[in-house]
Amino acid sequence: MQIIDGKKTASEIRAELKVKISELRESLNEVPGLVTILVGENPASKVYVNMKIKACAEIGMNSKLEKLDENISQEELLSIIESYNKNPLFHGILVQLPLPEHIDEDIVIESISPAKDVDGFHPVSVGKLVIGKDTFKSCTPYGIVELLRRYNIETKGKHVVVVGRSNIVGKPIANLMLQKEEGANSIVTICHSAAHDLSYFTKQADILIAAIGRANFITEDMVKENVVIIDVGINSIDDPSSKKGYRLVGDVDFENVSKKASYITPVPGGVGPMTIAMLLTNTFRAFQKIKSK
Ligand code: NAP
Repeated sequence: MQIIDGKKTASEIRAELKVKISELRESLNEVPGLVTILVGENPASKVYVNMKIKACAEIGMNSKLEKLDENISQEELLSIIESYNKNPLFHGILVQLPLPEHIDEDIVIESISPAKDVDGFHPVSVGKLVIGKDTFKSCTPYGIVELLRRYNIETKGKHVVVVGRSNIVGKPIANLMLQKEEGANSIVTICHSAAHDLSYFTKQADILIAAIGRANFITEDMVKENVVIIDVGINSIDDPSSKKGYRLVGDVDFENVSKKASYITPVPGGVGPMTIAMLLTNTFRAFQKIKSK
């Protein structure tokens, strides 16, 4: 069994981008820029945003935090986004979700220029992903594809079973694995909570992608020998032996399932660290695309 080390892979991607960015600075005297828009004081959002800004700084990417008041009107927010759509210094725009209740997330996402939609949530990006056109892939599914590619895991003709159909993980990763291209070309099954006997499906998986949000939900008896496990779940469980009183686990019972798996992502340190690495990759690509026009 081999551990798929997302922390190491993400740091390799960041190091590769750092080199490319320093080359851009020398040749063009310009670097990609990401603006992150944070509305309100959600503590988890603040942590995520700080991680993204730190990651940009580490690789020499230009980044800005646009911190807005919790009570900002939707119209004001839309006009700020429009100003960044036009701002040549920023090639990627990320609006940290969730937004306060009085703001319609769909309208906000649709107001971001698809050329700068580095989160890949705009309906244009999602539609292009489904029909197999070049677009910004949303960062967590993109990170999974990149892990499979960098670990040389065969996907062509393999049965990928995705558990979970959210718009940010389940649906996009299923669509990516379905595409008739290298690193995909899989037979794909998507499962969700209406499945009467989930293990009927999961046992057929050559590659099982769990994006459920339930701690240790996929057990040893639900998978076949030599399965490749991609565990997207991040769940907090009580752990009196840890200083914080809790620890993070995935959707897969790592201890027992890893004995049957050929490859497995740990939690933490698997898919999680890839998300920011792919956000940086998307921002770099946004810069390249804008400059090549
Ligand atoms: P979500 O929107 O809550 O979706 C969960 C999916 O799991 C739903 O489609 C749900 O089915 C399905 N599900 C729930 N219980 C099930 C059951 N008993 N049997 C089969 N399917 C079941 O969650 P999400 O946003 O996709 O996130 C999933 C997990 O990934 C969470 O732990 C989240 O924290 C984590 N995550 C990690 C990253 C990262 O590493 N960077 C990014 C995003 C999410 P229904 O559709 O029928 O309700």
